[in-house]
Parts: sequence; C-alpha cells; structure tokens
Amino acid sequence: VVLVGNLIGEDHANYVLMYNMLTGIRVGVSRCQAKVKRPLTDEDFSARHKFSFDIVGNELTPSAKYDFKFKDYAPWVFRELREDYFHLDPADYLLSLTAKYILSELGSPGKSGSFFYFSRDYRFIIKTIHHTEHKFLLSILKDYHHHVKNNPHTLLSRFYGLHRVKLPRGRKIHFVIMNNLFPPHRDVHETYDLKGSTVGREYPIEKAAINPRAVLKDLNWINSGKMLELGPEKRALLTEQLRRDAEFLRKIYVMDYSLLIGIHKMERGNRDNVRRNTLKVFSPGISMHRRATTVAKGGTSPEAIAMRRAMRESNPERLGQGRSALLLPEEDTGDRRDFIFYQDEGGLRATDEANESLDKIYYLGVIDILTPYSTVKKLEHFWKGLSADRHKISPVEPGEYSERFFSFMKAVMRGGGGGERFKAE
Ligand code: ATP
Ligand code: CA
Ligand code: CA
Repeated sequence: VVLVGNLIGEDHANYVLMYNMLTGIRVGVSRCQAKVKRPLTDEDFSARHKFSFDIVGNELTPSAKYDFKFKDYAPWVFRELREDYFHLDPADYLLSLTAKYILSELGSPGKSGSFFYFSRDYRFIIKTIHHTEHKFLLSILKDYHHHVKNNPHTLLSRFYGLHRVKLPRGRKIHFVIMNNLFPPHRDVHETYDLKGSTVGREYPIEKAAINPRAVLKDLNWINSGKMLELGPEKRALLTEQLRRDAEFLRKIYVMDYSLLIGIHKMERGNRDNVRRNTLKVFSPGISMHRRATTVAKGGTSPEAIAMRRAMRESNPERLGQGRSALLLPEEDTGDRRDFIFYQDEGGLRATDEANESLDKIYYLGVIDILTPYSTVKKLEHFWKGLSADRHKISPVEPGEYSERFFSFMKAVMRGGGGGERFKAE
C-alpha cells in the first residue's frame, strides 16, 4: 500500500509544533529509557521532567531548530505501561515516532478541536488535548494504571505518553500518544463511532454514500440492521471485557466515550486503498535518520546511547524509505498478537455460531475516555433534555452513560440480546 500524502514543508502552520513534539519525545523518552528499569513509586505518578530546547544546545539537551520547552509527565509510569502491559518494544516505539520527522495529519475530526497526527508507520496517534483533559488524565493515572495492569485485554485507549510543548510566546499544547486502532496493512471499509445514544447520532446517508471514510454513528448502525458477527466464545470474552471497562469508566466518572469499530471486508481486500490520499504528510525534507545517526555516533549522552541501541535493534529496511511516498506494509507485523481482541491481523476476525471464521475483520476499541461529567456537560444535559428524551441524549450522568453504553454494545452483537431498547424512532 502506498500512502501518498501532500508533503508539507517548513512553512506549514503546524510544522514547528510537530518538530517540537517529536524532538521532545525523542530526547525525553530516550532519556528515561536509558536508565535501568525499577519498580514504580508513588512519586512517579506526579513526576514531571522538564526540558528546555534552544538552537545552541547544552549538556542536557541537544540543539534544536527552535526555542521551546518540553514537559514529560509521569515518564516512568508510561514506560511501565508501554513495556509491561502494552508490550511495545522500546526501541521500536521511539523509532516509529522519531526516526524520521514525518507525521500525517488527520486534522480535527471531532467537535472538540483536538488535532490528530499519525506516526509515519500509522501505528501511533498523537492527539492534542485540552488542558482539562490533561489534568484529568493525570488525576486518574493511578486508577488507569491499576485497571490496565489487571485487565491485559482492556479495550480502552492505550495511552503511551503524556507531554506538553510550550512555544516561546507562551502557547501550551498538551498531547497524548496512543494506539491507532486501525491497522497499517488493511483498508478499513466502514467505520462506526457508537455511544448508545440515539438522539442526533446519525451521519447523513447521502453523504455517507459518497464518502468511504465517513465515521458513521449509532442510528446508521441501527437503521442498517447491522450486527457484530462473533461466535459464542469471542462474544463472551468481548462482553466481559466491555463490562469491566464500562465499570471502570463509571468509577472515574466520565461520559461521552464511544466504541470505535472499523470493518475490513476480506473479499474487498486492499484494492480500494482507502488510506491513500487521506493524510497530509508533514516532512521537513531532511532525513531525521541521518540526524539521529549523527546524534548517536560516538555520543555518550543517555540519548545517544539509547538511540544507538534503538538503531541496532531496528530493522534497517524500514528506515530506508523514500520521503515523498510512505510505504505501508501489506502484511501484519504481528505486534498485537498477545492481545485477544487484536490477534487476528491486528483485529478480531468475525466468526459464526460454530466459531468458524467469516471474511471480516473488526478493529475495535473504546476511545475518547477523558471527559468527566462537568458543569458544562450537566448544562448540555439540561438543554438537550428539553427537546428530546433525557435518557437518549448523549450527555447523561456517568452511571447512566456506562449502563446504557454496555447495554447497547451487547445489543450490537449478534446473539447479545437487549436490542428492543435501542430502536430508532
Ligand atoms: P469529540 O469530543 O467531538 O467527540 P475528539 O476530538 O475528542 O472529538 P475523538 O472522539 O477522540 O475526538 O476521535 C474522533 C475520531 O477520530 C473518531 O471518531 C475516530 O474516527 C478517530 N479516532 C480517534 N481515536 C482513534 C484511535 N485510537 N484509532 C483510530 N481512530 C481514532
Ligand atoms: Ca468522541
Ligand atoms: Ca472528546
């Protein structure tokens, strides 16, 4: 699959931000990575590592193209999450994100104004988040860590890092790194974002017909009579994990999250190349691998040492790619094989009642989990509730949200039961 994007030069509005984010990650993450692993302490959950970059550089930070500050939040906690629970190879993680400074921009797909960027190899997503979401994630980090540790097959967003870039005139941009639920090597033919709310949750059908990348919603799902086709075993496992995850989300008192479902139809394969041209690619036009090599060569800084190790352990073929076209693999890299719901080509293969495979692969997970039931959401509940059923609108109290979400997800599965409640009006 060739992913041809619009190469955006250094004059692009978000180029400096991208450069700063990746430089911060490259230096910050490899700094922590270079140290000997140790058990977490309570302080690790509130730790912040600060870096100050400028064009000159010093003993602590290498020179950068711009002046900016970078903060790495709870680096040891995220390191443990990445390595012990999400089974990411540390060298691989760093290289995917920063061996070349290339990100593709999805822009701002939601209403929130967050920006989404994909790593060059499409495995990771950088999402800029609002300050309130950032503070919220820090406040629940311990609970999140606990949940992930006890639920190796959780469907919740996998947070790999939490960072902040501060530009010279004071603008602060917070962002998380997370998993891309969708695979680099498979076209996703249909996408649904499901909440269990049925008020206004419809993507216009006329537009959907001409846009293969439309993100469809609850009413589209219900009206099309769709069902997740999973045999009894997979259905039971998925139901139980969703129950636990929804319970966790109720406890941390959030709402507005959704189950994202991507469907790959095997008989259609990759011939539509849906990923082609969907992404704008940021590239500074210089190979960051060359830069990384220079940094790594001979240096004795922790960063140089970690970089050298990363490069030694990496697959050299992946680094030699051209810079105007991104090559995405046609084959599964197998990096998610440890996880039940991501074991079939990075996703979950549809099965019939006899557990025989069907020719569809589902890519699913629970996303957008950082919205607490705040004053704003309570007001939204009040206003939307004036003109529609108070129990079917999107903003409801977290207990009710969680219960409705879980019921809907059962109704979404063939044989899962309870669909009557979610009929379209
Ligand atoms: P809003 O708050 O208005 O819903 P948001 O900016 O918080 O929007 P999200 O709901 O997190 O954004 O995501 C918006 C869309 O981006 C999703 O519907 C999905 O299409 C895509 N997306 C988000 N997270 C992922 C992910 N981890 N993997 C793949 N796609 C994702
Ligand atoms: Ca959302
Ligand atoms: Ca959101």
